[in-house]
Amino acid sequence: MTVDDAYAELGLPPGADLAQAKAAWRALVSRWHPDRNGHATASARMQRINLALEQIRAAAQAPASRKAAARAEPAPRAVRTVQHRVRLTLEEVAAGCIKLLQGSVVETCPTCSGSGHASKPLDCEACAGQGTIHERTWFGWFGAATACTACDGSGKIQPACKACDGRGKTEVARYRVSVRLPANLHDGDVLHVGPQRGASTVAHDIHVEVLPHASLVREDDGTVRCELPVDGFAWVANRTIDIPTLRGAQALGLQRGQVMYRLAGQGFPPRAGGRPADQVVIVVPKFPTQLSREQERLLNRLAATTSGKDGG
Ligand SMILES: [Zn+2]
Ligand SMILES: [Zn+2]
Repeated sequence: MTVDDAYAELGLPPGADLAQAKAAWRALVSRWHPDRNGHATASARMQRINLALEQIRAAAQAPASRKAAARAEPAPRAVRTVQHRVRLTLEEVAAGCIKLLQGSVVETCPTCSGSGHASKPLDCEACAGQGTIHERTWFGWFGAATACTACDGSGKIQPACKACDGRGKTEVARYRVSVRLPANLHDGDVLHVGPQRGASTVAHDIHVEVLPHASLVREDDGTVRCELPVDGFAWVANRTIDIPTLRGAQALGLQRGQVMYRLAGQGFPPRAGGRPADQVVIVVPKFPTQLSREQERLLNRLAATTSGKDGG
């Protein structure tokens, strides 16, 4: 049904206003409603009358709602800033790293202001806005009235917003961008990344969180401290062990009697910049309390070499 057909259906000249259309609709409803009119075509006529009013109402409202939508929409090049929390291991902080940011920007639908509904409820077509249905019987239209299932008896249908399909939210932008994070960031740092080349209108704030490390601790001056339990016999025997550093495991030659070791330049640079600080390793020699017979025998022989007596 075109809008002109709709006016004809209500017996109006094209271009009559909405108030005239409503008045004509009320007059026709009182004549054609199946409650009052037993004619076999009454129901079909009612449906056409309802549809006609809907068409005229939609045509009357369309330009206004389009204008409202245009006002509510942000300017086409408006930049939206997305907040991200990025967790970095201490190794990633030391070397710098690349992180992929991807997702979409979702905002409240400007057309329906987030309600998901079209502007106005419409009269239910199934029951002509009455909320009840009269079942057809062999004797005409005098069947029992039952609640209309299409509108749950309210007589009104709330159409979904067309702009957002009733979700109340619309996706306004998508992004997928690889960001190189520099080395030596700190917990709580915020990096701002502007819109990338091309048509993107999305900027990013990256909130840095540095994860705790299993054995390395970063100190304020950039020193990396590491406290390690080591086998006491290996320590006494000047063995070489593997220790963790920011750049992976590294060999350290133990010196009996020495518990603190310094790896020059293996920490972080100070916050203000400059040469990297050191890594400090504290070893904690551990001796077993339970010894095998063989270990007891060897220890006694060892003790005898310094006390002058052979205990074995
Ligand atoms: Zn209904
Ligand atoms: Zn909407």
